[in-house]
Amino acid sequence: MALLQISEPGQATAPHQHKLAIGIDLGTTNSLVAAVKSGQATLLLDENNQAILPSVVHCGAGKITVGTEACPYAKTDPSNTIISVKRFMGLGFADVKNFKNCPYNLLENGNNLLFSTKMGELSAVEISSAILHKLKIRAEKSLGDELAGSVITVPAYFNDAQRQATKDAAKLAGLKVLRLLNEPTAAAVAYGLESGEEGVHAIYDLGGGTFDISILSFQKGVFKVLATGGDSTLGGDDFDQLIIDDCLATLGLGELTAAQMQKIKRLARSAKETLSSKDYAEFNCVKAPYRISKTKFEGLAGGLIKRTLRLSKRAISDAQLEIGEIKEVIMVGGSTRMPLVRTLVGELFSKPVLCSINPDEVVAKGAAIQAHALAGNKTQNQILLLDVLPLSLGLETMGGLVEKIIHRNATIPITRAQEFTTFKDGQTAMSIHILQGERELVTDCRSLGKFELRGIPPMVAGNARILVEFQVDADGLLSVTAAEKTSASKVDISIKPSYGLSDLQMEKMLKDSVLFAKSDIQTRQLNEAQVEAQRTLEAIDSALETDKKLLEKSMLKEIISARDKLENLSKSDDKNAIKSAIKDLEKSSEEFVEMRMNSSILQAMQGHNVDEF
Ligand code: ADP
Ligand code: MG
Repeated sequence: MALLQISEPGQATAPHQHKLAIGIDLGTTNSLVAAVKSGQATLLLDENNQAILPSVVHCGAGKITVGTEACPYAKTDPSNTIISVKRFMGLGFADVKNFKNCPYNLLENGNNLLFSTKMGELSAVEISSAILHKLKIRAEKSLGDELAGSVITVPAYFNDAQRQATKDAAKLAGLKVLRLLNEPTAAAVAYGLESGEEGVHAIYDLGGGTFDISILSFQKGVFKVLATGGDSTLGGDDFDQLIIDDCLATLGLGELTAAQMQKIKRLARSAKETLSSKDYAEFNCVKAPYRISKTKFEGLAGGLIKRTLRLSKRAISDAQLEIGEIKEVIMVGGSTRMPLVRTLVGELFSKPVLCSINPDEVVAKGAAIQAHALAGNKTQNQILLLDVLPLSLGLETMGGLVEKIIHRNATIPITRAQEFTTFKDGQTAMSIHILQGERELVTDCRSLGKFELRGIPPMVAGNARILVEFQVDADGLLSVTAAEKTSASKVDISIKPSYGLSDLQMEKMLKDSVLFAKSDIQTRQLNEAQVEAQRTLEAIDSALETDKKLLEKSMLKEIISARDKLENLSKSDDKNAIKSAIKDLEKSSEEFVEMRMNSSILQAMQGHNVDEF
């Protein structure tokens, strides 16, 4: 979807001036950030040397936690732990009404959807921005300087609303977005396909909860999405489930508690990942050992993989191609680490698949390469990359029909205008309804927004000349203007499609920066309280170790009970409770402290004359 001007003539910066730009793969399950370092696309790691940030956000009371630390909350506090916010991006309340197994408290708010959490009512954009913010901080730390900009990837099938929501999330996180980039295009760029010959490629992306197949053509510097397909409910989680089911059946286990189930899920996932490199995997399931061989697992997994093959074939035929015409097949997504996936996909296309770049890192790396170039750094391939519009854009006309203004597959950015007229004598206003989709009827397309053009001078029907202009920018985002041409008093209106955040809301949020400023302060205060708790615990433990004998039984009991209470609270995220537990412990040990002081003075004085002191 993006116009990727790797470098325009005369735009290249001085060679020694290196502008820092990052590529972000904002995934449903996992997110990553990469940058070009010494000419190489490199993953940026967190303080534990991890590249992958689980796309999990816990919205606790006054505190947002993101990534690995947020994962345990999925079990303990599911309604406040958003685990795949990407599925909600750019959707309204009506769109998600039928989402299955959704533990969140969702609210309708005009066109928008809100999550009611302990942190307050938050939009998918805000929650997503928390993930992006965390990656931004990681990148700044790792690169040691301010960022010139970022490229964020989105699925090829993302519509205008979903793209706009992603862009808004980035802005909210304080990132400058150079471009949104289609995930399959990013993967193709990571493999340098744009520097090779022209041709059609298939990008097979099997992630944690989704399967996407994209057929991309690369011609005259343009990556065109010829077809996309897939299944938004098929991914690595389903392979985990195969192991869970087999484990429960083999061990003859019946109903399990939620906690046991959660544990098995984690063990099954890691067993599955083990089976990608070992012949068997085993774990202890509710005290009984369970073991599964690779052969058995592959026997179970074959059915799911075959489903992805059928969907791949369908996408190829949607693109009106034969399998033999596909030049390269790129493996993307952590689940394509499974050897059987690679084998079966290779068999389908009758050629070895491209998997030399880690499949869970390839999208972020491609995005980093684009970001590097777009920030104005010199690159090897000084070529122009373009993308195309995935869905047609049009207007509602009489009879509930859609008049397409820009057709799908048009190379973007693009501007197209069309003239309309009034159909009633003296008509002074006109309603403009913008739609996206390939179908003829308004009801079958997605509504992007509606606005009224007012102030048309009264004329005979058919005499007014209303020019409606559609502009799609390089990110695939649309703006519309309308004006009456014959009258001197022109009326121009620009709109942003009516979803997501308005410019005003956006501005306000940025200004208040509630999400981060507040949570940053609170995080700091909590950290301080936790550190103080640790210090107090250590002091009391060492005092008890040496001087417990000074205490009467009841006093000792009181101190220990206060001490244990503090220890229990010390890891919680309730800073006030921690602080008051510290106070309680200090209070109950006041006398003990005094006794110790006296005793140490006595000890120090032993054998000395009082005058010596
Ligand atoms: P997404 O793009 O959906 O955010 P990823 O591409 O990161 O997700 O894929 C995550 C999935 O990849 C998980 O289901 C995980 O278990 C799976 N995965 C990661 N490593 C392996 C492996 N070695 N073998 C099999 N599956 C793996
Ligand atoms: Mg992905």
